[in-house]
Amino acid sequence: MLRSVIIAGALLAATPAMAEPRCPTDPLAPLSTPKVPLEVQPRAAAAAASYGGMQYRRTPSLGPRDIALTIDDGPNPQVTPLVLRILARHCLKVTYFLVGWYAHAYPDLVRQEAAAGHFIGTHTFSHPDNLRRLTAQQAEAEITQGFEAAQGALGSGTAAERAQLAPFFRFPGLNDTAELSQWLAARRIAVVGADFGANDWMNISPQGIQHRALIEAAQTHGGILILHDSHMRTAEALDELITSFEQQGYRFVQLVPAPGAAAGRDPASILRVAAAAPRAPPQTSRTDRLLVVLRSWAARTAAFGRWLGAAIAHLWAAGMARFGH
Ligand SMILES: [Zn+2]
Repeated sequence: MLRSVIIAGALLAATPAMAEPRCPTDPLAPLSTPKVPLEVQPRAAAAAASYGGMQYRRTPSLGPRDIALTIDDGPNPQVTPLVLRILARHCLKVTYFLVGWYAHAYPDLVRQEAAAGHFIGTHTFSHPDNLRRLTAQQAEAEITQGFEAAQGALGSGTAAERAQLAPFFRFPGLNDTAELSQWLAARRIAVVGADFGANDWMNISPQGIQHRALIEAAQTHGGILILHDSHMRTAEALDELITSFEQQGYRFVQLVPAPGAAAGRDPASILRVAAAAPRAPPQTSRTDRLLVVLRSWAARTAAFGRWLGAAIAHLWAAGMARFGH
């Protein structure tokens, strides 16, 4: 009797059902990407819930080796299908921040993203470089039409696909304003910034993107990563980049709306179903992207300064001890 209990216990401990199911096409990845729910309730009436250590506090539920992959500026008819295939091969779920103009132009791609289990946030309608340069009405229209375009693209999809629309907004160039943050807070929309990027908007090689992403991840301890599916080089870099992160012990997670994220939102105000009227094509100036790099550089310089200060203080203390003080 005792022996059979021990055997049963050993079998139970060894049974594969206890192990996390693995991705059939990537043994380094789990079958499903762990979800990190983001609250959309504003922490203060005057500011939207905001995430990403470049500008805001680090997302509390992201561990030191967690990476939440976010993909901006699509959908793109050449790049997005490739990226979707790579993500599927790694059983990896991400959060998109679409440009409304492209969502309106390529609704099938938006539905493919949603059908694959990715969440759909937005990134304005025509991607102005900097919403700070627009009037409040123009900026609010950009945000509203971006959501409307995404919802319009998903409108003909299944209920499950429509449910992948997230009340998440990312400012172009991460150029937020206090007024727009307040406006988003009133609509229960969260602002998603970033912890690191990979310079994939610059004219660098896929290897350069991989190199930069790994260096940045080491410096920021992972976090929210911005990539862009508007460039072929990103698709060319992505497969190996995901594998490199996995080999280095990073864990991918997916940013998703917290349960009840729709509660309290005025359905007539921003997420109503409406086809966005195309206006101007997206701008392609690099000013906003340069600002992202400068902000990242400034954050790293500040970190180096703190390290240098600590090192000098340490040497000073050691020197004093040596000379008998
Ligand atoms: Zn962008």
